[in-house]
Amino acid sequence: MRCRKCHGTATVEIRRHHTAFCSEHFLEFFERQVARAIEEERMLTHRDRVLVAVSGGKDSLALWDVLRRLGYDATGMYINLGIGEYSRESQRKTVAYAEAHGAELLIVDIPGQYGMSVEEFARATGRVSCSACGLSKRYLFNRVALEHGFGVVATGHNLDDEAAVLLGNLLHWQTEYLARQAPVLRSAHPHQVTKVKPFYRIAERETAAYAIVRGIDYIVDECPNSVGARSLLYKEALNLLEQAAPGTKQSLYWGFLERGRPLVRAQDGATLRDCVHCGQPTTGEVCAFCRMTERAAERMRVRRMRTPASPPVSPEPAPGVPAAAGAAPPDR
Ligand code: AMP
Ligand code: ZN
Ligand code: ZN
Repeated sequence: MRCRKCHGTATVEIRRHHTAFCSEHFLEFFERQVARAIEEERMLTHRDRVLVAVSGGKDSLALWDVLRRLGYDATGMYINLGIGEYSRESQRKTVAYAEAHGAELLIVDIPGQYGMSVEEFARATGRVSCSACGLSKRYLFNRVALEHGFGVVATGHNLDDEAAVLLGNLLHWQTEYLARQAPVLRSAHPHQVTKVKPFYRIAERETAAYAIVRGIDYIVDECPNSVGARSLLYKEALNLLEQAAPGTKQSLYWGFLERGRPLVRAQDGATLRDCVHCGQPTTGEVCAFCRMTERAAERMRVRRMRTPASPPVSPEPAPGVPAAAGAAPPDR
């Protein structure tokens, strides 16, 4: 296989474009695709300060890297979700990138700030982990960006991610979600920042190839909570289709943006106002994140009251506490 540009040995094949590149020309291709996405969708200008949400995975580290190479003023933001070794390892990879490249990084520590992990938020409020995690990330992306004066947050969502979400939304005819699925979500409130996905034109295997060619060390493991997630099933299904017919994901997602999305216009959104507790935009009085964290904190307080510091001497346990309780069991 030969590079389309220089006819040297190709290292990356891009079947959906019927082409292949050597490492040097692959980087050129990749940067061009990102620059084109940013310009066509008017995501960023070189005057913007952009906050890049970095998880330590290939997509977001590649995004941070390519935005900096394209000359954007890009600061990283890592959120420690408190998911055991997975979170520790992803933080190490993110910090290592920042140090090696002299890039500025903000670290938000959920367990340090809120006293519990996203898994504990989930358990305490009867949500599934991924829902508590997604809610926390969306909330903190906006809040941290605002507090540090960034007008825009960029995430590493790629073509595979967006096509899988689209497939899920189509399978269940989630018309409200379909109307809101886009590479750019513009601010609709003074306390809301714009969110952009500069990788919507780029396949997952291309972001992995970019990270490898650029020598970026990233966490390969998926989040342990994502095992069995629907989104992974949809990705597998699309990979099967892509294998048989290269270009399927692209035609599904780009076709949707061009032809499907105009047909599913969003209903007029409810008016946003400031959360009375934290000031972040919400449709109700108290935002979903404050409701979740306050409920979880309340559950914790009740559990601590029920669980004495040293186990009772009496064989009779306090109500709701198992006889051998050292620590309270998780509320399910
Ligand atoms: P995911 O929701 O895990 O598929 O991640 C989608 C995007 O969200 C990533 O590409 C990152 O931009 C961002 N992201 C995910 N996890 C984190 C994290 N712990 N800290 C900061 N950004 C994150
Ligand atoms: Zn070449
Ligand atoms: Zn709030």
